[in-house]
Amino acid sequence: MEFFPPQTSEGVEKLRLARKQLAQLKPEFFSVTFGAGGSTRERTFGTVLEIQREGYQAAPHISCVASTRESVREMLQRYREAGIKRVVALRGDMPSGMVEAGEFRYANELVTFLRAEFGDTFHVEVAAYPEYHPQAKSSQDDLVSFKRKVEAGADSAITQYFYNADAYFAFIEECQTVGINVPIVPGIMPIGRFSQLARFSDACGAEIPRWIREKLHGFGDDTASIRSFGLDVVTALCDRLLRGGAPGLHFYTLNQAGLTTTIWQRLGL
Ligand SMILES: Cc1cc2nc3c(=O)[nH]c(=O)nc-3n(C[C@H](O)[C@H](O)[C@H](O)COP(=O)(O)OP(=O)(O)OC[C@H]3O[C@@H](n4cnc5c(N)ncnc54)[C@H](O)[C@@H]3O)c2cc1C
Repeated sequence: MEFFPPQTSEGVEKLRLARKQLAQLKPEFFSVTFGAGGSTRERTFGTVLEIQREGYQAAPHISCVASTRESVREMLQRYREAGIKRVVALRGDMPSGMVEAGEFRYANELVTFLRAEFGDTFHVEVAAYPEYHPQAKSSQDDLVSFKRKVEAGADSAITQYFYNADAYFAFIEECQTVGINVPIVPGIMPIGRFSQLARFSDACGAEIPRWIREKLHGFGDDTASIRSFGLDVVTALCDRLLRGGAPGLHFYTLNQAGLTTTIWQRLGL
């Protein structure tokens, strides 16, 4: 289950409450996102440590764009000293207004660096894109890039969210064909608000199938109908993924417990 590091003390309290509820579902770990360029560095660190102090496994996301080797090394050393055992290694997106790319270009370079400097200290997760990354030159190129991250030492992957189970299954088959055998856990985005979801999806290249988009759009401001329809769609998606052999589910909780909990309960997990 994934959180973002809250910006305000009110957000911190809300996340504590959500976490308490979600912890009852006994997820394998909670991960905490990282603002590319280091904008959330201390907040991510603080949230990760708080989760760990509560007795749960916490996994920081680390993005390497616009970073130096020294700053990444220092951050990983702090996590190692704190006893963190899992990280999500990403390139990240260049923050607007920032032009310096830094010392890493792609996530595979971060994975190589992690393995060279920290050996097997961390279980390393990387990102995967069943509908392909929006900047990839081609789907084939994106698969080669993913394979490069796995060969650099990634233990498993979490996907960008999607609403079309066939895209995931086709991607898994494609990965197996080229010899990628690490577990690839589907990322699940519960549907709470349409405008926010549409904005995210346009930015990250995750397709909202037309029938879902039209239906959500048609509900207008009727939040109850959006949530109810969204729960049906996402529960059916998760059910199909698990039945089809997905090795787990990674929930983008957006720091809210309600939708994830309901989906979990409906799945009978
Ligand atoms: C599970 C998950 C969690 C995320 N968490 C965060 C977060 O906490 N913070 C954040 O800022 N963002 C996060 N993101 C978003 C992510 O940072 C963006 O999608 C980013 O654009 C790509 O990151 P990546 O690690 O997949 O990059 P990469 O694997 O480096 O790929 C980026 C692009 O470059 C291409 N590419 C890769 N290697 C090469 C190469 N050697 N030569 C040419 N092209 C190459 C790929 O095909 C792809 O198009 C997350 C995404 C996912 C799926």
